[in-house]
Amino acid sequence: MDIVIIGGVAAGMSAAARLRRLDETARITVVERSGNISFANCGLPYHVGGVIEQRSALLLQTPEAMKARFDIDVLVRTEATAIDRETQQVTVRNLDRDSTSSLHYDHLVLAPGASPVRPPIPGIERALALRNVEDVDAMVAAVGHARTAVVIGGGFIGLELVENLVERGLEVSMVEATAQVMAPLDPEMVSPVHAAIRAAGVDLHLGAAVTAIGETDVTLADGRKLPADLVVAAIGVRPESSLARDAGLTLTERGAIIVDEHLRTSDPRILAAGDAVAKRDAISGEQVFVPLAQTANLQGRRIADVIAGRTPVDRPVLGTAIVGAFGLQAATVGWNEKRLRAEHRTYRAIHTHPLDHAGYYPGAASLALKLLVDPATDEILGAQAVGAKGADKRIDVIATAMAGGITASGLAELELAYAPQFASAKDPVNMLGFVDENLATETTRSIQWHELDEAVSAGARLVDVRTPGEFANGAIPGAVNIPVDDLRSRLDDVRALAEQGPVLVHCAVGIRGHIACRILEANGIQARNLDGGFRTWDAGQAASA
Ligand code: FAD
Repeated sequence: MDIVIIGGVAAGMSAAARLRRLDETARITVVERSGNISFANCGLPYHVGGVIEQRSALLLQTPEAMKARFDIDVLVRTEATAIDRETQQVTVRNLDRDSTSSLHYDHLVLAPGASPVRPPIPGIERALALRNVEDVDAMVAAVGHARTAVVIGGGFIGLELVENLVERGLEVSMVEATAQVMAPLDPEMVSPVHAAIRAAGVDLHLGAAVTAIGETDVTLADGRKLPADLVVAAIGVRPESSLARDAGLTLTERGAIIVDEHLRTSDPRILAAGDAVAKRDAISGEQVFVPLAQTANLQGRRIADVIAGRTPVDRPVLGTAIVGAFGLQAATVGWNEKRLRAEHRTYRAIHTHPLDHAGYYPGAASLALKLLVDPATDEILGAQAVGAKGADKRIDVIATAMAGGITASGLAELELAYAPQFASAKDPVNMLGFVDENLATETTRSIQWHELDEAVSAGARLVDVRTPGEFANGAIPGAVNIPVDDLRSRLDDVRALAEQGPVLVHCAVGIRGHIACRILEANGIQARNLDGGFRTWDAGQAASA
């Protein structure tokens, strides 16, 4: 059996190595356009910054090692240029010798990944992008001669590159066309990330479009010029599917290769995996483009299973992701609130601000957590976590819960590892479950930070139940300060407010507000609690500013 694999990194090499473990006799050939296979794409930004000092650390395998251990033929600096489905042949071109030849296949695996988007901005040819080892070599060389840099694009890779260029001592500007970096986060969750970028001395431009790239600067739509010895384009990626398109395989509108649940394309002899293929969204079941390493590696492994005659089913994706920059972790899973609103889904949002571990144990750091829940079924629709530490494990737990079909209130029941230096006896994930339980079962209702202005304009009265000291340090305009511990003795004050309009209550993060709502309700006063309290509202204001 001849198996040809196009693309020799995450999905391609996972497929190749597992195939050999499952079948000792197949003839396996991997075709890779760049000069390396199995390189650590996710580590590339950290070699730019010198955090990963040795270039060799990025190279996880060599063609020689693959031949010795797995008897796999790897052709590097070789590009697959055409697929003839009739004769089951792939045309390949050796880029060094400029010679072409063809390879027969019984099964063809497409794992060509995704390529950086290069918008038609004048001067874009000067912008460097980061995809492979050759790109990182070029960037490291350019950084050596640069004092200033502009990074265009505020996604994961742009953010990692900004941090690493700062690490190398460059004066860095970051330009993002939308109002925020890190599109998977909702605006109030991304505020601390913006603050951390600015605190690191980065000149952050949001809602700004680059109109030209000059020899030493970058021009924005408003005419401002940013100094740029080095320009990096990190504007996103698109599926590298021209080979599949030319071969007549079915693609989505956005150019991702469509595969079935066994990763077969519209031609059953051709399978495809990784960034080039459309994934099935775990929430909606729709075709989505989710270019992430875990899925690519897993799909590569699953393709080997399919070719070996097993029948694995490709799982839908949750898009679980994390980035670290400037001392913050930002992690997400599933859908965000922006998407739920755009798709007119009903949802319940929960914000909390717990410490990553017990407050009495030194070094605890605050986290911002957000959970999105289907109120009809209690299904978890998504979550976000931002903080100095502990965001990673909370999102991983929630992602696992989502994959296992555990509901939002089921998070309350999870038995998670605890000692004071790692967590709290009621872990932040348990606490999300408690809040969800309360909202699902009690009469208490919450209000979101972005609904507050409208409610107050319509006559709602806001009671701030924090201490007078906290109130003096910053308060929501129009709020009346009645500390939670005074509430029982000042019920008449609240009754007077309730006669003027619906009562809204808030504290710093939502806990005292919830207690206040329970006290008020027990005394016949309906009240709604500001979800996530002053801290979430304040982050939302910063994001909208
Ligand atoms: P790739 O790994 O891109 O491999 C595809 C290979 O196919 C390429 O090397 C290409 O040269 C080759 N190829 C394409 N067409 C042809 C052809 N016609 N002939 C021969 N060869 C061809 N994901 C995360 O989850 N977490 C991270 O932290 C993260 N960080 C990243 C940082 C960077 C800088 C980059 C670039 C990506 C990062 N990713 C991250 C994304 C992750 O690397 C990809 O999701 C994953 O590598 C996709 O695997 P793949 O096999 O589909 O494609």
